[in-house]
Amino acid sequence: MKDDNFLNAHNARHMWHPMGHPGALQEKPPRVIKSADGSTITDLNGHSVVDGVGGLWCVNVGYSCQPIKDAIAAQVQELPYYSAFAGTTNAPAIELSYELREMFASDGMGRAFFTSGGSDAVETALRLARQYHKVRGDHGRTKFLSLKKGYHGTHFGGASVNGNNRFRINYEPLLPGCFHLPSPYPYRNPFGETDPARLAQLCAAAMVDEIEFQGADTIAAFIMEPIQGAGGVIVPHESFMGLMREICSRYGILMIADEVITGFGRTGDWSGSRHWGVQPDMMTMAKGITSGYFPFGACMVSDAVAEVFEQGDATDASIFHGYTYSAHPVGAAAALACIRESQRMAINENAAPRGTQLFEGLKALKDKHEMIGDVRGGHGLMAAVELVSDRDTKAPAAPETLTAVFNTAYEAGAMVRIGGNNLLMSPPLVITEQEITIILSALDEGLSAHGG
Ligand code: PMP
Repeated sequence: MKDDNFLNAHNARHMWHPMGHPGALQEKPPRVIKSADGSTITDLNGHSVVDGVGGLWCVNVGYSCQPIKDAIAAQVQELPYYSAFAGTTNAPAIELSYELREMFASDGMGRAFFTSGGSDAVETALRLARQYHKVRGDHGRTKFLSLKKGYHGTHFGGASVNGNNRFRINYEPLLPGCFHLPSPYPYRNPFGETDPARLAQLCAAAMVDEIEFQGADTIAAFIMEPIQGAGGVIVPHESFMGLMREICSRYGILMIADEVITGFGRTGDWSGSRHWGVQPDMMTMAKGITSGYFPFGACMVSDAVAEVFEQGDATDASIFHGYTYSAHPVGAAAALACIRESQRMAINENAAPRGTQLFEGLKALKDKHEMIGDVRGGHGLMAAVELVSDRDTKAPAAPETLTAVFNTAYEAGAMVRIGGNNLLMSPPLVITEQEITIILSALDEGLSAHGG
């Protein structure tokens, strides 16, 4: 490995970063994270902070999970790669498919299609949803519905159902036939409704209205995150997902739960759908499946969806979709070890009380800091504070203010994440009470230093 001077000289020079301006990053290069331990990360300057972001909502078991590291090393020795295109497979992938079926049986899931990450999983779900209807002879069902503020990755299909125009405008035209519905976001919504239960009803009515307008027999699937993550940790009323489930069933529309963030313990349950008591038709998974130790994901489908494919015509129901790294043996081995460790440590059971601690702490910060317009969380370890320049008008705080708060918080000992005018938090699920306190006091310091 080259020394620190080399790293500083070449940082962002020859590499373009996701979600950043290449020129601006050359002017102000990103922090180099050099090592990590437990829930703490250390940068090139030797500064250590509590990782309030869990990498990118993904390092659920923390950074020191030796069994995953060992499983990856052993699998690289045994079989570093082999294709899973029809004709060959590998042992860890078979075992993982069995484990996932067990783990998500109560969510109604029966089969897994493996991918290299979340965007691939979403793409898989959208394609299989269209194919499902075609196999059944329902050729007209090609459109997709999704929620504004939703995030579903950045492939063309996922970007098309994405509900944030930042991820759309530079890449249009996107997939035709994608329609976006109001999100159950009490702080800002077109109905001016602040009561979450009533808002859930209004959003459900808007969904019915859109379906009637489009024609139910033109719609393949509806995709939603059980709790919207990147869009600002938008927590719906507990009735919301069930209402959407009922509408999908009524109109023959498949429900895809995008569990890329909410899966594997983050909400306090093993899936976000289970948290709301809903069985979707498909689930997309990534992130927590390997805790980020290896790029991996899955699209799971229900037994009923599986049956349509498995008993379908040889041409129509064959899956002409897949990735070189679908069912990658090292990824599957990492996932198996990660799932075992997640269950052994019952990380979901820690997520619930620590999530409550974080949420209550953030609400206390709102009482103290005028610039916090809204605080969201309380369902496991996903939280956001929304910064405003004026509480009455809800005008979003300036991007420079968010950066300044972020930087001070980092210096004070915690990494958080900026998403729009939100500061987002999704720490490892093994985080301790003491480490949550550090995140809260670092944020307090950032907010006190830049506007109060
Ligand atoms: N869906 C959701 C809900 C996500 O949060 C993300 C990533 N943040 C994705 C899909 C895309 O996953 P990936 O970045 O692994 O492609």
